Amino acid sequence: MRGEYTQLACSFCDKGKIETWHIPSVWIEKRTGKSSLGKGKSVKKTSEIWIIKSGCNICGKSAEEVEKELKRKQII
Ligand SMILES: [Zn+2]
Repeated sequence: MRGEYTQLACSFCDKGKIETWHIPSVWIEKRTGKSSLGKGKSVKKTSEIWIIKSGCNICGKSAEEVEKELKRKQII
């Protein structure tokens, strides 16, 4: 799977490191195949994906809680 391993700071205590897997959004080309009009191609952007792999080992928040908080703060 493409993507990269990234560490984010815990958004609760700011000291812990949260292990995440980050898959950036990419443009993909789709061939429609059927179209005799236009070029028969379209592009679309996939959404960015963050997979939270661990909770915080400093304040003890679970991966789920950390994910919620990071999303609420629009960090991920
Ligand atoms: Zn923490």
